[in-house]
Amino acid sequence: MVEDARAIDYSLDSAHNSLCDLDKLHNPDETSILEEYSINWTQKLGAGISGPVRVCVKKSTQERFALKILLDRPKARNEVRLHMMCATHPNIVQIIEVFANSVQFPHESSPRARLLIVMEMMEGGELFHRISQHRHFTEKQASQVTKQIALALRHCHLLNIAHRDLKPENLLFKDNSLDAPVKLCDFGFAKIDQGDLMTPQFTPYYVAPQVLEAQRRHQKEKSGIIPTSPTPYTYNKSCDLWSLGVIIYVMLCGYPPFYSKHHSRTIPKDMRRKIMTGSFEFPEEEWSQISEMAKDVVRKLLKVKPEERLTIEGVLDHPWLNSTEALDNVLPSAQLMMDKAVVAGIQQAHAEQLANMRIQDLKVSLKPLHSVNNPILRKRKLLGTKPKDSVYIHDHENGAEDSNVALEKLRDVIAQCILPQAGKGENEDEKLNEVMQEAWKYNRECKLLRDTLQSFSWNGRGFTDKVDRLKLAEIVKQVIEEQTTSHESQ
Ligand code: ADP
Repeated sequence: MVEDARAIDYSLDSAHNSLCDLDKLHNPDETSILEEYSINWTQKLGAGISGPVRVCVKKSTQERFALKILLDRPKARNEVRLHMMCATHPNIVQIIEVFANSVQFPHESSPRARLLIVMEMMEGGELFHRISQHRHFTEKQASQVTKQIALALRHCHLLNIAHRDLKPENLLFKDNSLDAPVKLCDFGFAKIDQGDLMTPQFTPYYVAPQVLEAQRRHQKEKSGIIPTSPTPYTYNKSCDLWSLGVIIYVMLCGYPPFYSKHHSRTIPKDMRRKIMTGSFEFPEEEWSQISEMAKDVVRKLLKVKPEERLTIEGVLDHPWLNSTEALDNVLPSAQLMMDKAVVAGIQQAHAEQLANMRIQDLKVSLKPLHSVNNPILRKRKLLGTKPKDSVYIHDHENGAEDSNVALEKLRDVIAQCILPQAGKGENEDEKLNEVMQEAWKYNRECKLLRDTLQSFSWNGRGFTDKVDRLKLAEIVKQVIEEQTTSHESQ
């Protein structure tokens, strides 16, 4: 099987670690995944932000599994750890085993340490896709799907884990049978909820108001309306309940509650206002046939104030999930979701906006430009950059690290990437090159940064191609996290 893999120019070598439980994740074995599984490198089950999920087959039983491959980094280990903690529930995708092997993909010059997560195969596909294939998707079926999602969420919340990326793409059906269970996957943004969930991790249509509130505060702090606060604005598991409300709404009618016609890289103003004020409607055309109970649960979940929102127990006790009524009205959502272009359009907007939103996940507060050491950012101020641009990235949780020049230089890159562009394109590109040169000078030993620069066509002094600034900022953020984690563990 090693040969098979090599034949298509994938190499997987110095395989060492087979991991079946949490302990083993910290103390791995010496097994290669290829000894036990054949990997189908060409078939992709779905693509997420961390790359495609593939099919693998267990050699001893010929059983098919899904395989997610992540770079072996603390963040990935955390994802595996939290997923494993939750995966004992029947409505959460099971992790079969995890390998830590060196894998070299065709475009790479050397193998890289990766985690290979073998999961149960969810042959029935994603929630939207499944609904679109149902000729007669009824309110009863929507309620049954909701119950299963709620059970999965309750399990996570009982373990004090917030999922934070609850969306239809992360809800998968076991198979194509009518009564196939639905399960929650992708713990990439999950976090132990210690009441300090200040990092907005979300997809705009599924975002809770308190997350927007955190953003709004950042905006105000940026413009100097309110002083930079030393305490982070917090939000918590109730984000998952807000998302559940949105998912129920979409399942019932086929469009999101805070839908905006304007697709842009940031949440449009009208959508923001609707989310903040919790203003949505149940348009007659699609909702006239839908029960009052269903509307009630949606209303109670889409409450602006988290404390007024139903708890997960409240959802599970709600009459809509426990009704003996037939609820056999066919929903309009299946028909609407059949239009792949519409679904793809919404998903694309999500993806763009997600990239933007993740920039918020910097664990940062913003401080005035006058306190910045970086001469390039300072020059910007002297050149008369508008006050709203006068921000600088300051790491809240790692104040002591501020003296660390290498990290400061990386933060400068993020600041340059996310600040509104002050001048003409070329000027801005030059500034980005300057801050990147500095960051590179001080972080040459960082492999992630080296690989990133390579993939962004960095020639040692500047970027030769147009740079996707949000993407660059996002990866540099990962570099900071990695550097900070490695400092902490030393
Ligand atoms: P990412 O963290 O990169 O977003 P996900 O874990 O969300 O990756 O997986 C991406 C997609 O891959 C999912 O939306 C789904 O379509 C598919 N997928 C993930 N896990 C499975 C699985 N166990 N079985 C079948 N398909 C899966």
